Amino acid sequence: MSRALRVQVLIVGGGINGAGIARDLALRGVRCALVEKRELGSGTTWASSGMIHGGLRYLQQDPEVTLHSCVDSGAIQRIAPHLVFRIPFLMPVFPEDPIGPELVEVGLEMYDRYQPFKNGRPHTRLTRAQALRLEPALSPRIDCAFTLDEWGVDAARLTAANALDAAERGALVRTHAEVLELLREPGGRVCGARVRDLVDGEEIRIEAELVMNAAGPWAPRLAALAGAAVRLRPAKGIHLVFERRVSNLAVYARGIDGRDMFTFPHEQNSMAGTTDDDYYGDLDRIDVTEDEVAYVLEAMERSLPSIRRHRVIHTIMGVRPTLYGFGRSEDELSRDYAVLDHSAEGAAGLWTIAGGKLAAYRLMAEDASDRLCARLGVREPCRTATTPLPGGDGALDVAAAARRFRAPLPALVRLAFRHGTRSEQVLGPWDPAVGPGAPPPRTVCACEPVLDAELLHAARREGLRRLSDCTLRVRLGVGSCQGAGCAGMAADLLADALDWSAERRAEELAAFAASRWHAVAPALGGAQLAALEIHRHLFLGARGFAGSAAAAGGAAAGSRVPDAVPDASPDAPLAMRRRAGALRTLARWRSDPPGDPSP
Ligand SMILES: Cc1cc2nc3c(=O)[nH]c(=O)nc-3n(C[C@H](O)[C@H](O)[C@H](O)COP(=O)(O)OP(=O)(O)OC[C@H]3O[C@@H](n4cnc5c(N)ncnc54)[C@H](O)[C@@H]3O)c2cc1C
Repeated sequence: MSRALRVQVLIVGGGINGAGIARDLALRGVRCALVEKRELGSGTTWASSGMIHGGLRYLQQDPEVTLHSCVDSGAIQRIAPHLVFRIPFLMPVFPEDPIGPELVEVGLEMYDRYQPFKNGRPHTRLTRAQALRLEPALSPRIDCAFTLDEWGVDAARLTAANALDAAERGALVRTHAEVLELLREPGGRVCGARVRDLVDGEEIRIEAELVMNAAGPWAPRLAALAGAAVRLRPAKGIHLVFERRVSNLAVYARGIDGRDMFTFPHEQNSMAGTTDDDYYGDLDRIDVTEDEVAYVLEAMERSLPSIRRHRVIHTIMGVRPTLYGFGRSEDELSRDYAVLDHSAEGAAGLWTIAGGKLAAYRLMAEDASDRLCARLGVREPCRTATTPLPGGDGALDVAAAARRFRAPLPALVRLAFRHGTRSEQVLGPWDPAVGPGAPPPRTVCACEPVLDAELLHAARREGLRRLSDCTLRVRLGVGSCQGAGCAGMAADLLADALDWSAERRAEELAAFAASRWHAVAPALGGAQLAALEIHRHLFLGARGFAGSAAAAGGAAAGSRVPDAVPDASPDAPLAMRRRAGALRTLARWRSDPPGDPSP
């Protein structure tokens, strides 16, 4: 089926930048549409460290980037106070470090000048004993340490909140909708796009006066549809996610190549990263390698010697849409952004936003929207720095809400962090005053804990469309269960809410399992990986999912089982021999699957 609609601006890409622009334009009364080919924020935005920081690292070569990020971090804290959290950092200094404490302190004194923009405290210098008291897991080899203040945010929720606000102000927001073609007038002007809904197959023709390419690392590919060029130098970055908090504070670490990295608390977990490597591979299938995992762990171990005792439960991967630069290492590239008008390339009407930082997304969106509005003749000023995002307009009495809705207090604290004052709206259908005798909200995933109320709200009121979207939208299955304990119940709830058939429910479960496996497998390695590969294949086979397209795609692409497995040498370590044996069994099962395991 095909239908057509007309807007003033079509925004392609529902990462933080596309969602930020949609909200900015909608607040100015511009009719716009935002299309995202997967889930909101599922590209680079989900892969980020979620810091709305100034970036101490950029201070030397890019002070403007630091300034913009700090100023915008202050604005994000104002409009979404519920969604941000303070992250105090510890920066240890080791005797062998090339830059000693005095010089480190000079840099931190400079950074202190930017702290007031983002409500950050000035640094402090700690003795070795003071630092170890604050963070007992720290290496006792340190000379001294410094504290510095940063802020974090749930980047996926921030993106969803921007898109939600845009939709409530009249924008069309559609996920799983991919732009396949840019529409052109006879003179070459870009005047919209042909979009395919990847869930129901519907084709939509969206005509627009202007098209904003906010496709992140995919921006060159989208621009090429109109014969225009966007030059990026894409760089892959990964994070490891630990089962629980591994330190009280965020801790700086140094890679073997001298790169700065860190471990930091994020929601229920700790994350460690990140890498920064030129990337030439498939943007739609980014794999984490065992080498990358080893590189990050090695760096972390120097600062936190016990790090390997903690379990890495999954990985997160993405590609930075860094602006092109030649002859410099990935780390040294500017984090600045650009708003490009493609008129001079014969593609008037098409614009691109590229580069930049999550921390400065609102400012980037303001700049891009100013330019689009100037072209449209819209004079409304930007209001995104002062208008609260949904839920950011006050404080919620969490304890009172927990009592009223008969929900566990920790679940309510979490809900208030994500939805702010809107939490009561999320729990509305569970209000005993509305439905006396109705059961209280249930915990679907105990790892965080995620309530059925939030899941159903996302499906009924926020446009959630697929089970695998729940990872980002409500953080389902990102804890230690990785979906094993919650995916089935979540699928039942969504099947009811979205009217899925039994077959669709099974497809959704298989796709969810495949996407979790893709994130989990690199964190395993050796015999553990092989054993879990066997479990996964048994699970898919026994449940009959193996034949489904989603499972096949996930298994084929995500599996690390080679077709032919050489024998491990008899002298190889036991784990290697076991792994080779298990892989051979799996390879054999590929051509000759085992029968029904039931007696
Ligand atoms: C490892 C890592 C760590 C980072 N850490 C931080 C940090 O701590 N702080 C910070 O400020 N910044 C950080 N960044 C940078 C930050 O994440 C990015 O600047 C930001 O997320 C870019 O957002 P975006 O909207 O431009 O791109 P994306 O989030 O990639 O959004 C683009 C979207 O376009 C969609 N799309 C592509 N093609 C089409 C099509 N044809 N049709 C429809 N949709 C399409 C994609 O699916 C994607 O969702 C980090 C980046 C990485 C990789």
